[in-house]
Amino acid sequence: LIQLYIPLNFLGVLYREIKQSLTDLGRMFGLLEREREVADRPGAPALAVAQGTVRFEHVGFAYHPERPILHDVCLEIPGGQTVAVVGPSGSGKSTLARLLYRFYDLPQGRITIDGQDIREVTQDSLRRAIGIVPQDTVLFNDTIGYNIAYGRPGASPAEVEAAARAAHIHDFIAAQPRGYETAVGERGLKLSGGEKQRVAIARTLLKNPPILIFDEATSALDSANERAIQTELASAARGKTALVIAHRLSTVVDAHRIVVLQHGHIAEQGTHAELLAQDGVYARMWRLQQQGSDGAA
Ligand code: ADP
Ligand code: MG
Repeated sequence: LIQLYIPLNFLGVLYREIKQSLTDLGRMFGLLEREREVADRPGAPALAVAQGTVRFEHVGFAYHPERPILHDVCLEIPGGQTVAVVGPSGSGKSTLARLLYRFYDLPQGRITIDGQDIREVTQDSLRRAIGIVPQDTVLFNDTIGYNIAYGRPGASPAEVEAAARAAHIHDFIAAQPRGYETAVGERGLKLSGGEKQRVAIARTLLKNPPILIFDEATSALDSANERAIQTELASAARGKTALVIAHRLSTVVDAHRIVVLQHGHIAEQGTHAELLAQDGVYARMWRLQQQGSDGAA
């Protein structure tokens, strides 16, 4: 029995290790699959950004064919302008952001930047032109300084610190015993949702790209921090093309245009004043949020 037990136990360990490495391999292949899905066309040119005008043309999308998410979405963000997308959760707002960043290729319609279909240019050039603060930030298992500097490899420590200050995360970092060298992520310091969000904001401010996507970029912050950082984001977006996905409508009243997404359709669009005058979905959402004490939906 003992003789049998030892090899079995050994096999158990071996089995777990193999299973683990298969899981890792699976993840890796999953990633490769994704990379293949959005592979560069041979000889694809780099994206050339001039005004930075973004257009969604008749965009349809589904993660699974049986469940369409976006239907015939047409949306233009003129170069240098800010367009906000609002709407109930699950309406497809983050999907729009992921498609512009080309996490997935489109089965229907196209997305262009200054007239260039984003499927026709190199992914690398596309992603250099766009800075995204995603709804859920996943940090690299590295130092907090690395996580910010990733926005612009080669940035000086002073530039990293300036971005961290603008994102109101410098004081938090400076208070850590190892400062910017503090390890974060799975094996390091665990950051709260709001802290991670501010790291992602610092990274994007440092990157300073011509096109910005903020996907509920301040949703995990308390209202005082949110107001302060909104000011920084607004100044970062000035003169740039920005797609701002918002939960709190009060953060987008100044957008050049506000688009209301419902069940993957554009239900309404216009300026804040125009939408209030229309007295439709947006006006109703606005009244509800004005009644709420913290301005949340
Ligand atoms: P929003 O940002 O407006 O809350 P999302 O764009 O995140 O909405 O999601 C739109 C719909 O797509 C939701 O019903 C959501 O469950 C679904 N969805 C989002 N991501 C995925 C995914 N990776 N796989 C399958 N379904 C997804
Ligand atoms: Mg979302």
